[in-house]
Amino acid sequence: LAKENGKNNFQFFTKELEEKAAKKMMLERELHKALECGQFQLHYQPQFDIHSGHMIGVEALIRWKHPKIGMISPVDFIPLAEETGLIVPIGHWVLQTACRQNKKWQDNGFPPIRISVNVSARQFSQPHFVDTVKEVLEQTGLSPDWLDLEITESMTLEGEFFHSVLQKLKDLSIHVSVDDFGTGYSSLSSLRHFPVNRLKIDQTFVRTWDDKNKAIIAMIITLAKNLEMNVIAEGVETIEQAIFLKEMNCHEAQGYFYAKPVPVEEMDVFFQQLFIATS
Ligand code: C2E
Ligand code: MG
Ligand code: MG
Ligand code: MG
Repeated sequence: LAKENGKNNFQFFTKELEEKAAKKMMLERELHKALECGQFQLHYQPQFDIHSGHMIGVEALIRWKHPKIGMISPVDFIPLAEETGLIVPIGHWVLQTACRQNKKWQDNGFPPIRISVNVSARQFSQPHFVDTVKEVLEQTGLSPDWLDLEITESMTLEGEFFHSVLQKLKDLSIHVSVDDFGTGYSSLSSLRHFPVNRLKIDQTFVRTWDDKNKAIIAMIITLAKNLEMNVIAEGVETIEQAIFLKEMNCHEAQGYFYAKPVPVEEMDVFFQQLFIATS
């Protein structure tokens, strides 16, 4: 009987794996077509200076609206795009669209803010990555001062090559943030030598709101200050968290408490508020 059950379990298991593999293949096929079919959109999530309360930036977040499947989360397709290499053209589209949009806001007369674009390791390690970014800035007319690239902490571990790319970006006065900071095990001594502008405290520390995570958050804020970097907390959802961050003198914050990611049409109200507050 046990043997029989074991066999059934095995069949069940392989069936599940087959379904998973089939789903992945289907998604991959659809992903190939998504760019040319115009199925991607960007949503924008405001980032605020905690002390002045002013919006100082927005993060561009990709959305895939498939005509049959509906909305597909980046968590479900970015890893696949990375695996297949499709992240390179998709990432280029994101960069172009984000820079063009930011220039448009400025041309409309709104106070300038920085736009943050997520960059995958695979994109970052393209031999001509820096040239590509320069080209996009030239094409869109956006000044490098208003572009921020979000890289992940694990990428700062990659040594010489990554270091030289970061230095080139800095020389161009493009801003760089380390996304999901605190989970990627970068050594603190290597961080010291990395030419990055900002640490972005990973959401997981805010998600579980307890004394230990609060201690970690406070430590990252202090670390950033001592390294003369900026620091932003992401995933801030409650007033309690916002108060704590203010008390700890965290510079910037992003999260549902302040604003959710929104389609471009809904950004105007944030710009109006900023315009009124600063004029
Ligand atoms: P991320 O860069 O760390 O982005 C933050 C994620 O947290 C976003 O999820 C955002 O919608 C979500 N978020 C923001 N505030 C809150 C909050 O208060 N509570 C909670 N629970 N969530 C919050 P999203 O848009 O689903 O993106 C997930 C991840 O997908 C991103 O994490 C990023 O790693 C990746 N991603 C998104 N767009 C792009 C892109 O254009 N290129 C690349 N390479 N990756 C992207
Ligand atoms: Mg990010
Ligand atoms: Mg990320
Ligand atoms: Mg993050």
